[in-house]
Amino acid sequence: LRVHAVPMDPPLSDGGRLLLVLSDRTRDRAVERMRADFVANASHELRTPLASLIGFIETLRGPAEDDREARARFLGIMAEQADRMRRLIDDLLGLSRIEITEHQPPTGRVDLGALAAAEVEAMGPVLGARGARVALEAEPGLVAAPADAGQLAQVLRNLLENAARYGREDGTIQLAVGRAEPGGNARWPARPGLVISVTDEGPGIARHHLSRLTERFYRVDRGRGRHAGGTGLGLAIVKHIVNRHRGQLLIESEEGVGSTFRVWLPAETPGGD
Ligand code: ADP
Repeated sequence: LRVHAVPMDPPLSDGGRLLLVLSDRTRDRAVERMRADFVANASHELRTPLASLIGFIETLRGPAEDDREARARFLGIMAEQADRMRRLIDDLLGLSRIEITEHQPPTGRVDLGALAAAEVEAMGPVLGARGARVALEAEPGLVAAPADAGQLAQVLRNLLENAARYGREDGTIQLAVGRAEPGGNARWPARPGLVISVTDEGPGIARHHLSRLTERFYRVDRGRGRHAGGTGLGLAIVKHIVNRHRGQLLIESEEGVGSTFRVWLPAETPGGD
């Protein structure tokens, strides 16, 4: 609590008056704290691969200088660490760009079925490398508006990548695009909407983690997420993009069965406003 005392001028004859301004600073503190935590987390995430790179450079300059086999192996690890840093920096920049525009609604219209088909095709090699198959079911002609195609493509990429990364090896990922049933979910807005859903057959996520998944750098299994190549920012980016579209993100999961990530988006209204 901040207390601000301002003497009133001119003072009254009975000895003067004070104006007291009381302001609750709890929220400001929480925001400051979150910012500080974010910078600390981001620095730590960048430092880990950097420390590994520095270590390998020293080894290659010293003890492993003439060892061709060790050299090749270490260079492979160094390339992976450098790539991890690059992905992290890309996601950090992406997140801050999205945050800046979050209060300006998008202005375009996006055919979701066509976008989903294009993304599945573009991600074929990445998903295939993880042994994942995508089954796409999309009603044709469903247009989200107002919407931003680049950002919605990123939502699809992040959700599909997670489904492949944390889903069952050689499993099938169900990607569906359809109309949102009015009243189909208590958290869905009342306006006409569309839903993109991504379902995997992975081990699922324990209930107590669900509400925290979209926090920056939150990981269910810290070691596994990093090892699997995640930056810890994917779902935070999804959440901000969905917010910008005035949409909703719902995460449902059953342990031992799999997880479903559902994104509600506004549908183009007839007459196109
Ligand atoms: P990351 O880059 O670590 O994947 P995300 O923000 O995309 O970060 O996801 C946060 C965490 O949520 C992940 O580290 C993982 O623990 C969990 N998670 C995300 N998607 C899934 C999924 N489909 N199945 C199980 N766990 C998931």
